[in-house]
Amino acid sequence: MTGTGYARLSDDQAHSTFRALRWHETGGEPVCPACGCVACYEYRTRQLFKCKGCGKQFSVTSGTTFHGRKLPMRDYLMALAIFAINPKYMQILWTDPLGRIMIAIGLVSMAFGAMIIRKIVAFKG
Ligand SMILES: [Zn+2]
Repeated sequence: MTGTGYARLSDDQAHSTFRALRWHETGGEPVCPACGCVACYEYRTRQLFKCKGCGKQFSVTSGTTFHGRKLPMRDYLMALAIFAINPKYMQILWTDPLGRIMIAIGLVSMAFGAMIIRKIVAFKG
């Protein structure tokens, strides 16, 4: 499946695909991010899991960089799909000189953004 194929998935399909990608070692079965327990209850309606070991609730994005973001699941999958399914799309970033410049600009703007955020937080605090 291509990156554009993922863009047309419903949120439910996106969720189960994300599950399969995140917990591919267990065949899509949830693994507790807190204690690593594989025995979990599943609340299908809320797309939440509860660990039988430590009782913590978690979602498919808990403990990942995607957790707490407001973007729909599909957008994460797009990024994951491009990276995981076809790394060649990303490869141009470090094989092409222009790509390296893009990475550099990206890193600089990320650092700059982090600095600004820290200043805003500092002013408010
Ligand atoms: Zn647990």
